[in-house]
Amino acid sequence: MLEILDNIAPGIFSRHTLLYGVEVKFYSHRIKLTRHLESDIGNLFVVGDGAGITRGLIQASISGIVAGKEIASRLKAL
Ligand SMILES: Cc1cc2nc3c(=O)[nH]c(=O)nc-3n(C[C@H](O)[C@H](O)[C@H](O)COP(=O)(O)OP(=O)(O)OC[C@H]3O[C@@H](n4cnc5c(N)ncnc54)[C@H](O)[C@@H]3O)c2cc1C
Repeated sequence: MLEILDNIAPGIFSRHTLLYGVEVKFYSHRIKLTRHLESDIGNLFVVGDGAGITRGLIQASISGIVAGKEIASRLKAL
């Protein structure tokens, strides 16, 4: 494929061309969550791409913080 592509994009068929990994997107699965990212199962929080709520590193990280803060506040209230 790269050899043929080289005809229209010269240079692509080079030993310096890095082939990127296959990306599988799981975010089409969408779980019903509260705004604190808690699922229908009490105290079970779901974050990141697997929950279908994020599509990148920053959003996935922030979703962890959102759930973590809620968990921390519940623990504090015990
Ligand atoms: C090739 C590629 C390039 C990307 N480039 C970018 C980019 O440039 N910028 C960007 O913002 N996003 C990018 N993304 C998307 C980004 O990587 C994801 O959105 C992000 O990593 C999702 O974070 P996550 O914590 O939800 O899931 P993940 O990072 O996938 O973490 C899930 C973790 O759970 C572990 N796990 C799975 N099943 C189990 C199990 N049964 N038991 C225990 N552990 C388990 C996995 O090993 C993994 O460590 C890219 C993704 C891919 C695949």
